[in-house]
Amino acid sequence: MKRREFLAGLGIGAAAATGVSAYTMGGRQAASVSYPGKSTKAVATFDWKLVMSWPLHFPASGVAMDHFAAEVAEMSEGRIKIKVFGAGELVGGLGVFDAVSQGTVELGHSASYYWAGKIPAAQFFCAVPFGMVAQEQNGWFYNADGLDLWRELYARHDLYVFPAGNTGTQMGGWFRKEINNIDDFKGLKMRIPGLGGKVIDAIGGTVVLLAVSEIFPALERGVIDAAEWVGPYHDRRVGFHQAAKYYYYPGWHEPGTVSELMINLQAWESLPKELQTLIDTAAYKVNLWTLSEFQAKNAEALDDLVTNHGVLLRKFPDDVLQRLREESRKVVEEVADSDADSRRVYDSYLKFREQSASWRAISEEAYANAVNLPA
Ligand code: CA
Repeated sequence: MKRREFLAGLGIGAAAATGVSAYTMGGRQAASVSYPGKSTKAVATFDWKLVMSWPLHFPASGVAMDHFAAEVAEMSEGRIKIKVFGAGELVGGLGVFDAVSQGTVELGHSASYYWAGKIPAAQFFCAVPFGMVAQEQNGWFYNADGLDLWRELYARHDLYVFPAGNTGTQMGGWFRKEINNIDDFKGLKMRIPGLGGKVIDAIGGTVVLLAVSEIFPALERGVIDAAEWVGPYHDRRVGFHQAAKYYYYPGWHEPGTVSELMINLQAWESLPKELQTLIDTAAYKVNLWTLSEFQAKNAEALDDLVTNHGVLLRKFPDDVLQRLREESRKVVEEVADSDADSRRVYDSYLKFREQSASWRAISEEAYANAVNLPA
C-alpha cells in the first residue's frame, strides 16, 4: 500500500458523524436454509453492518474485522452476515459509538478512549499512561471484574462490548532531536493525543492536535518537533523515518492499547444463545489474533527500520521516565476524581495492576532479566 493511499483513508478526526445511511435496525429475517442431511426449517438470520474508526483493511485493526466477519459467517453457517465499513464510509471514525448506540448499525470497532467526553471512565478500558500491558488488561477483563464494569457502563448507552484487539506496548514516538533530560520537552511541539498529551503539557511541552493524515507533513516540515503514532509496523508504512530520525521507546503513554467491539444491546439480545456464544468466541479469537499480529509485524518492521533505513533507536533516559510517571499519576488521578464511575473503575484497575505487578516482577520480568544476563 502506498503512503498516499494509506493516509487517504485516515480521516478519523475530519469525518463527522454525517452521511449515515438510511439503514435502520431490521436486520433480523427469517430465511429458509437447508443443510445436507438435515431437514429444511426456517431459521433466523442476521444481516448486520459493522463500522470502524479506521480504514477498511487497515493493517492489524482493520484486517482483524475482515477475519472476524468471515469467521462469524462460516461458523454460523451464514446465519450472521456482517458487512464491514471503514471510517468515513457510513459514519466518521469518531461517530462509531453513537451509530451503534442509536442502532443505526449493529456493530462497531473502535477504541474506548475516543469516548472520554461521554464516559470519562472509558479511558481505563483502553490505554492508561504507565498502566497495564496487554496481558494484564486481558487478565483484568476476563478473569477479574474489568469487563463486567465496562459492560455495566456501556449498557447505559445501549451497548454490549468485548475487548477485540490490542496493539501491545506502543513506541514513544519520532523526535527530530534527542531527548537527554526533562527540560528538552520544554516548548517541544508534539502530536500526542489523550492522557499522554496532558502529561506532555504538564511538563512544559506543547501538544498539537492533528488529524492522522496531517502528522507526517507537519513533522517533515518541522511544524512539529515530535509525534507518536503506533509502533514500527504502522509507523513504517506512513514513512515517519523520512521526517525524523530518532525513534524513542518505550511507549509509556500507551502500554497496551485495547480495541473494542461494540454491539447494539437490542441487536445482541435478539441473538439466540448459541449465536451469542459464537460471537463471544470470535471476539476472544480476534483479541488474541490482533495482539499476535502486532507482535510479529512490529518485530520485523523495527529490524528493517534500524538495519535498512538508518533509524536511530533511543530509550528515554530513566530520570525522564520517572518524571513522566510522576506526572502521569497526577493526570490519571484527575480522571479518576472526575466522577463516581471513574473512581470505581480506576480503583478496580489499580488493585488489579498492583497485584499483577508483584507477580510480573517475579515471573516475566525476572525471566527477561535472566535471559538478558551477559554471557
Ligand atoms: Ca498511539
